[in-house]
Amino acid sequence: MIYQRSSQLFAEAEKVIPGGVNSPVRAFKGVGGTPIFVKSAKGAYLYDEDDNRLIDYINSWGPMILGHAFEPVVAAIIEKAKKGTSFGMPTELETKIAELAVSMIPNVDKIRFVNSGTEACMSAIRLARGYTKRDKIIKFSGCYHGHSDSFLIAAGSGLSTFGVPNSPGVTQGTAKDTLLANYNDVENVKALFEANRNEIAAIIVEPVAGNMGCVPPKDGFLQSLRQLCDENNTLLIFDEVMTGFRLAKGGVQELYNVKADIACFGKVIGGGLPVGAFAARNEIMNYLAPIGPVYQAGTLSGNPLAMAAGLAMLEALNNDSEIFNRLDQKTVYLEKGIQTVLTKNNIEFTINRVGSMISVHFDKNQVVDFETAKNGDNETFKKFFHGLLNEGVYIAPSAYETWFITDALTYQDLDFTINAIDLVAKTL
Ligand code: PMP
Repeated sequence: MIYQRSSQLFAEAEKVIPGGVNSPVRAFKGVGGTPIFVKSAKGAYLYDEDDNRLIDYINSWGPMILGHAFEPVVAAIIEKAKKGTSFGMPTELETKIAELAVSMIPNVDKIRFVNSGTEACMSAIRLARGYTKRDKIIKFSGCYHGHSDSFLIAAGSGLSTFGVPNSPGVTQGTAKDTLLANYNDVENVKALFEANRNEIAAIIVEPVAGNMGCVPPKDGFLQSLRQLCDENNTLLIFDEVMTGFRLAKGGVQELYNVKADIACFGKVIGGGLPVGAFAARNEIMNYLAPIGPVYQAGTLSGNPLAMAAGLAMLEALNNDSEIFNRLDQKTVYLEKGIQTVLTKNNIEFTINRVGSMISVHFDKNQVVDFETAKNGDNETFKKFFHGLLNEGVYIAPSAYETWFITDALTYQDLDFTINAIDLVAKTL
């Protein structure tokens, strides 16, 4: 495939945008080469500036669960745009999407809308800290909760107690309140509670991790976190920015029947517009301004275009009783296909999948946490990525990312993809 115009556009972008991109992972740093510039997208396909057609397995990193330019979402945005794009005043639409979201998410009474997953998680921990009157939080290595300061904390050794910042600009003062644990390691979490008695406001976790590739929680892991939180008067925050409205109508709380105290959302809930949200029971949500002391705000929060897109998306999901089954079946079909062709070509690999989140690691050992995720063979991944791109299949340009399956994919698309993987596997 030819990427001449994408290369030119990237060179121009680099002059005026740091690294040529507005979000780092788009820059192909992990895999080398030039990012693809998109001209348009429809259903399961991206069309780039060189007029290549690519089958899309990123789907804007999750939101486009029903495909690109999904008609009801597009129509809702156009209709709203004609009536004004932002007011900074309440609209009925905000209540409508809130009612629907609250009815779909288990264990919550109220929801507040923000503009990104980052804001949702940042606000959720402030709320948890305000509510519990404690400062520390536990996060897991390899989990990503957006780019606010408290979350940009690198993994130390397995049982490290105090995090160190992994971005300049994050102060030591902030980092010291973020305690790190290993994903799927309950003993590690217990040890942190013992070392920090009555100091931990919240555990924040991706209940199915998607930012070190897809890593499912082990049996009982989420239940143990729930129990530890109850024993220690600590809040359990599920970061469902990826999993919310994707793995089930009610996200992972519904899928594994574990209750969180606060749930964070992004991606699907905005139908492809910039939206995040966090939700909880009344006793917690009523701590927020203007009725409570914890401050949180936003000029464009609840923006009419974003709410119209989100509402159209949630309605489509809520009204389709088969959607999550269908997504599961398509993803299982893909998983089996990939397993068959990689095995046939003697490639060492592990596939992790939960619902429509799936990732391929080039290592034969199980991937259960950040350490094991790092064992994947990155050189093989790079070849795999570029090989697939050449065949017209676009997966995330990093071995640490999940593929997001969209309902717009047909079985023909899946067969095409499996065949492409077979061709590429022969070259690995
Ligand atoms: N939490 C999770 C689990 C995420 O995957 C992401 C983004 N990929 C975020 C939070 C941050 O969301 P945003 O990029 O919308 O700020």
